[in-house]
Amino acid sequence: MSKAFTLPKYSLGVGDRFAHQAKAQLAACIKAAEAGIEVVPVWNKSNREHMIIGTEPSQTRQAANTAVKELGWKQPYFVDADHITLKTVDRFLEPCDFFTLDVAEEIGKAAKTEDVDAFVARHPELIGEVRIPRIAEPFHTNVAFVKGVANKFLAAVQDAGMIYRKLVENKGEGQFVPEISMDETDSPQTPVELLIILAAIADEKIPIQTIAPKFTGRFNKGVDYVGDVAQFAKEFEEDLAAINFAVKRYGLPENLKLSVHSGSDKFSIYKAIHEAVVKFDAGVHVKTAGTTWLEELIGLAESGGSGLEIAKEVYREAFAHADELCKPYATVIDIDYARLPKPQEVEGWTSEQFTSALRHDQSNPAYNPSFRQLLHVGFKVAAKMGKRYLDALKANDEIVARNVTTNLYERHIRPIFLGQ
Ligand SMILES: [Zn+2]
Repeated sequence: MSKAFTLPKYSLGVGDRFAHQAKAQLAACIKAAEAGIEVVPVWNKSNREHMIIGTEPSQTRQAANTAVKELGWKQPYFVDADHITLKTVDRFLEPCDFFTLDVAEEIGKAAKTEDVDAFVARHPELIGEVRIPRIAEPFHTNVAFVKGVANKFLAAVQDAGMIYRKLVENKGEGQFVPEISMDETDSPQTPVELLIILAAIADEKIPIQTIAPKFTGRFNKGVDYVGDVAQFAKEFEEDLAAINFAVKRYGLPENLKLSVHSGSDKFSIYKAIHEAVVKFDAGVHVKTAGTTWLEELIGLAESGGSGLEIAKEVYREAFAHADELCKPYATVIDIDYARLPKPQEVEGWTSEQFTSALRHDQSNPAYNPSFRQLLHVGFKVAAKMGKRYLDALKANDEIVARNVTTNLYERHIRPIFLGQ
């Protein structure tokens, strides 16, 4: 594995929908460096976002390169083709050096019987009593169970293998960071399932450096975790143990780590994540994305005048087109429509009222998670405004950037990586 394409221990996925905040995002990583910890940025943008906004992956690359140059960042950084499939990978090939192979769609599609049988025959260690160091209780499995798991995931892993080989053909072996994601699926994977999946990934010879399982609980966009934090903590630690074991047993890359998707704003599990990675001396990749777009809106609203007007207009349009905007994100948002203020009411709001409702400060009684989630999916409205929106960002650059950096550093990097 080439050093240049080895993902360091701690990394933060950042999303920059309108390609104007790369510097402000990188500034948060610089603050981390000043506080004594290396957190490298990975600019991620999915095909879905590019489609909705009408941007190209090459723009993400350009914005990242410019920010790195201007701020003199010397550590690694990456541009992630987030959630790509064989169908969508092409335009990401050149500009990206991190690829999140999304196999969620293939999960549950039956694999060939002979492939399942061969997998089970190849892995007697997965059958019976399976002891994973640092997991107190051994798992008990049998042939039927392993076959069932293989049947559920093998086709998906084979699909990832096809994408991976296409990447190798185009970019060369070791010239990019591969991740496999299976977060956008119905049910969470248990640690023993994760182990079986990792065995299959190793068989398929995909040297993944990160894996994004679906964790227990809800990871709604832009708002806090909803679920059993103690259960999450237990599973997260068991996943780390399963990864350690799989790295040794199956020869997967030493730096293989968990990737937490929809990881922004999950304040109530950051302590658990921090404690687990410290305890296991493990790395972690946390993907954030739309949280930055919301900080743009907060910055605009805070600046008052025409900035505030634009923020209100985005809300008015998002409210009017809520169904359409929410549809692609239906499984990852939870909006209480009764709690959405009427646009006429918002029309009369001050900067303070708008930012209090939107900013993710749970100690503020005016904070409104439904308002926040609707605006989270409302970036299409700003995309439609086009130049007018981008000009507003430029005109209010400083105040927007301050919000973007503060959000990433204070609310994300500090609790996750510094444990503060
Ligand atoms: Zn994801």
